[in-house]
Amino acid sequence: MKEKAIMNHQGTILWLTGLSGAGKTTIANGVAQELQKRGCLVEVLDGDLIRTHLSQGLGFSKKDRDTNVRRIGFVANLLSRNGVVAIVAAISPYREIRDELRQTTTNFVEVYIQAPLAVCESRDVKGLYAKAKAGQIKHFTGISDPYEEPLNPEVICFTDRFTIEECVYQVVSYLDYQGHIRHNC
Ligand code: ADP
Repeated sequence: MKEKAIMNHQGTILWLTGLSGAGKTTIANGVAQELQKRGCLVEVLDGDLIRTHLSQGLGFSKKDRDTNVRRIGFVANLLSRNGVVAIVAAISPYREIRDELRQTTTNFVEVYIQAPLAVCESRDVKGLYAKAKAGQIKHFTGISDPYEEPLNPEVICFTDRFTIEECVYQVVSYLDYQGHIRHNC
């Protein structure tokens, strides 16, 4: 019987950053679905979920946020080096840590999920903006904590101007064009 070839090619870290409510989770799930259809190994690391498990107990100071992002990066790297497309959906507000991950990992693709603060506030998917503005949540990104936009992201999705489907298509097309999907599937 013919031996099955052991494939261990490098995967990708698809890092979605942006304000709360910008659309990271929605686009991450849409991209994951599309890549799975193409036979890719995919895992979504969602910031909210990570905070209830891997980063339980961490707060929202700069130090804790940096620790959280480094942990997510560590796991994403473990996955991607085993051929998985690791899709991260996390606010990850500090440029320096995102850039650090870009430097220390392979196939790091930064996607800026962009929507004006006013649009994110009006969506207020989880009701967090209302609470932050009422002073019930401290250190809330965009309201009482900084968000540092990426300077040179590989992709920018303007979620106030394009539909979810268009944004998903934009990301998948980029991965396709750059050969990330061919390598993985
Ligand atoms: P985040 O993960 O960034 O906090 P979510 O994905 O949880 O954001 O929520 C984004 C909200 O914005 C969803 O309710 C989604 O339906 C809506 N939305 C509207 N247009 C878009 C778009 N083009 N891309 C992504 N989300 C969009």
